[in-house]
Amino acid sequence: MLEQLVLRQKSFAQHSRTESWHQRFDHLEVLEKLLTEHQSEICKALHHDFKKPHLESLSTEIMPLLKELRFAQKNLKKWMKPKRVSTPFLLFGSKSYTRYESLGSCLIISPWNYPVYLTIAPLISALAAGNSAVVKPSEYAPHTSRLLHALLSKYFKSEQVAVVEGGPETTTALLKLPFDHVFFTGSTEVGRIIMQQSAPQLPRLTLELGGKSPTIVDTTADLKLAAQKIIWAKFLNAGQTCIAPDYLFVQEHIHQEFIHILKAQLEEYYGSNKNEVKSSHSFARIINAKHTYRLKGLLEDALANRASLIVGGEVDLEQNYVAPTLLDDVDVHTKVMNEEIFGPILPILKFKEITEVVHFINDRPKPLTIYMYSHARHNIQKIMKETSSGTFSVNDSMVSMMNPNLPFGGVGASGLGSYHGLYGFETFSHKKAIFMQGPFGRLMKLIYPPYNAKKVDLIKKLMG
Ligand code: NAD
Repeated sequence: MLEQLVLRQKSFAQHSRTESWHQRFDHLEVLEKLLTEHQSEICKALHHDFKKPHLESLSTEIMPLLKELRFAQKNLKKWMKPKRVSTPFLLFGSKSYTRYESLGSCLIISPWNYPVYLTIAPLISALAAGNSAVVKPSEYAPHTSRLLHALLSKYFKSEQVAVVEGGPETTTALLKLPFDHVFFTGSTEVGRIIMQQSAPQLPRLTLELGGKSPTIVDTTADLKLAAQKIIWAKFLNAGQTCIAPDYLFVQEHIHQEFIHILKAQLEEYYGSNKNEVKSSHSFARIINAKHTYRLKGLLEDALANRASLIVGGEVDLEQNYVAPTLLDDVDVHTKVMNEEIFGPILPILKFKEITEVVHFINDRPKPLTIYMYSHARHNIQKIMKETSSGTFSVNDSMVSMMNPNLPFGGVGASGLGSYHGLYGFETFSHKKAIFMQGPFGRLMKLIYPPYNAKKVDLIKKLMG
């Protein structure tokens, strides 16, 4: 049955390959209608799944999707236009172009942490590029998955957009099918499985993965402002954000002072006593018991290895609650410094010289993002030029992804490929080379067989 679905989608995509930009614009319009007409149901489903605060649902799921949609609609005509490229002397008289063509049927596999945004954002790029798509949301956010199924089935024919719900077995079954592109967002560990399982079909592959994104704060930073931005970015969605600051690197001189400021900031956002924090409507829950338990393990391991608890540390397994937690004196060999945390625990490390930070980062898998709070040009340049990461962001956290002119994606263990705006359109398109020979093409016969010394001489001259 799934195979039939993919075949129907491929045939649909083939027929719509010649669609004009108006038609693609209209498909995006349908998505926009879906999002605007069902905003409150979407927010409710997200709240059901992990008590996602209403404001966060609007600001991190629906609003960025509407922005992405409108940006694609505005630029679609320009993106779709074939682009003339220059011609070398050897091909005098010919014309060459590049033209983006749709790929066919795409499989979009999404995680649970921003279950609407991370499902629909790649879908926007897929539709803008003229494809059909099968979407597989995460089984860990069941209310949102069910709602996406209901809404996308209501607004689109299954030949164009279909939702298949389920867990790893469903993904494994889908990966056996002849998709033209597989777009996966999730953990690095599962990313490896996806790459392996999709290999026999040889689809184009995008992997948007995770990892440990460091945040560096040096003595020249505006500490109050840095704390506002770091605490917001770390504890948004209860730390379950792929580009959340995973751990902090603070320069020795300001280390104690900055910890006080971070603590005060945490209290300002979520409350100053345990009960207030726990009942805060601005703080989400962990997605499920398995992940709450995993975070409890990270915390216990760090504390058992002499980390000091600055604030937080409370875990309620029944409510999937982990308090916003700051840890100091963390042993870099403990689990919390070697696994992606993906929860509201922030370990703090110290450094003397910026070179130490460069070595520390380069000794580990390439992060999705590096954040740097500094006004020291030398330090900023050093981190920017001597380390590798998907994104490098100075004096702010996470907001760079709101610029649709920037690609979003990782490098090495944090991902393969990118999307958003034009980069998403390119990811879901094939850039076809088009060559049109002119009358001088006849001259090419000078290099056709039978070969002789004159022709060899000519080739040597052409080689310069
Ligand atoms: P996950 O890798 O466990 O799951 C992602 C998807 O893969 C889900 O749809 C799931 O059903 C499927 N899946 C899980 N195990 C599978 C298996 N063995 N075989 C086939 N399919 C399988 O990730 P998650 O827990 O849902 O999300 C958290 C992870 O995603 C974090 O590592 C985070 O950093 C990363 N992430 C990355 C980005 C990004 O844009 N780079 C965005 C969000 C999350």
